[in-house]
Amino acid sequence: MKYQAVIGLEVHAELSTESKIYCSCSAKFGADINTHTCPVCTGMPGALPVLNKQVVHYAAKMGLATGCTVNRLCKADRKNYFYPDLPKAYQISQFDVPICENGEVFFYVDGEKKSCRLERIHFEEDAGKLLHDEIDGTVVDFNRCGVPLIEMVTKPDLHSSAEAKEFLEMIKTTLSYLDICDCKMEEGSIRCDVNVSIRPEGSNEFGTRVEMKNINTFSGAVRAIDYEIARQIEVVENGGTIQQETRRWDDVKLKNTVMRTKEDAQDYRYFPDPDLIAVEIDDEWYKQIESEIPELPISRYERYLNEYGMTAMESRQLMDSYSKASLLDAAAASGKVKPKAAANWILSDISKYLNDKELELENTKLTAEKLVDLICLIDAGTISGAAGKKVLVQLFETDETAEQIVERLGLKQVSDEGAILTLVKQVLDSNPKSIEDYKAGKKNVTGFLVGQCMKASKGQGNPQIINKLLAQELAKL
Ligand SMILES: [Zn+2]
Repeated sequence: MKYQAVIGLEVHAELSTESKIYCSCSAKFGADINTHTCPVCTGMPGALPVLNKQVVHYAAKMGLATGCTVNRLCKADRKNYFYPDLPKAYQISQFDVPICENGEVFFYVDGEKKSCRLERIHFEEDAGKLLHDEIDGTVVDFNRCGVPLIEMVTKPDLHSSAEAKEFLEMIKTTLSYLDICDCKMEEGSIRCDVNVSIRPEGSNEFGTRVEMKNINTFSGAVRAIDYEIARQIEVVENGGTIQQETRRWDDVKLKNTVMRTKEDAQDYRYFPDPDLIAVEIDDEWYKQIESEIPELPISRYERYLNEYGMTAMESRQLMDSYSKASLLDAAAASGKVKPKAAANWILSDISKYLNDKELELENTKLTAEKLVDLICLIDAGTISGAAGKKVLVQLFETDETAEQIVERLGLKQVSDEGAILTLVKQVLDSNPKSIEDYKAGKKNVTGFLVGQCMKASKGQGNPQIINKLLAQELAKL
């Protein structure tokens, strides 16, 4: 029998606020153990939480960017459970009235446009971390306790690990466009739980779903989903039934094991947090949030593909980086250069420089205006493409304009035909052997002679003019 997988995701993203969600402790990653803590985030009796407004702002922003309805009035609820990394024995989350509902995220899988609906986005606090050590035993680090998260819960609209991966990539890109999450996977800034079930192909019924936790990378999600689909098919094919349970994915052993049988939502005994008041987003604030939503990644991708004539891979590479895509759009908006020409610079020399130096575009001095000037200088024949690469490095590192750099480095291309002709003649005079070879039919000496002319011009001769004049002189022989 053929089976269809039905997959839903719960994605957690840490918001890049300065302070935690309910206290003024720093939310920064990587501090010494238990140094970013206070009575509120360590759950001391009598300590009272105060909501960080930025969390609401960021959560609503993600909601608007994913087509959700933003609930202008929402509240915080306590989710009760015990675990050593949760000192209050409850997590402040949102239950029946999340900040955002009913969204939809679009993405491409192998050139085909797909979508996955979002059931909800809510904000909540992260738990601490247990650090296991063979000598010291287990240490609880509360630094992460109270770091703000948004949880995005999808409808079960995904049907393969490839779809799940592209959906997750689009969520990540969107978070980076909105500048609300640092998206550092290695620091656990984005994590996901996966729900997987299978059903006979063509069926509309849902099978029993299994939840998998402990997934920290998108490639890990792909492996976990593929494993779980295969496991469920094997169970069913062997006459067994799928149990509703939570399984822990082990990305080293590449298998999952049972963690616990599924608890129902009511086990958490959610109730409104009596220490916090309702959250209201008024018209002015809502408009402010709305005004901060940039053009979304998928819209940029489609524009590059359909209007700029780029390949799917080029469009994707540009879309993935907000700063590179913005540089391209700003350069194109100047109207002075072809978008494709600017894109070529961005995807080749600019990307290479940034990779080599491990820099982000915004931490360099390159601007769209400078890039446009550079391309114009090459288009006008003022400098060669090779000289352009030298100028580019300076554009990253200095405040000078492209013209100033060309002047300073003496890179101006010589296009004066009279001057180049003199040079060509000199080269021919000093290479009698090559001329003999040429007369004997060895036409490939031309390449050598062009090289000699370029050398004689100290690399500044316009190669097209050199080629033209050299051919003209050789023809006279
Ligand atoms: Zn604190």
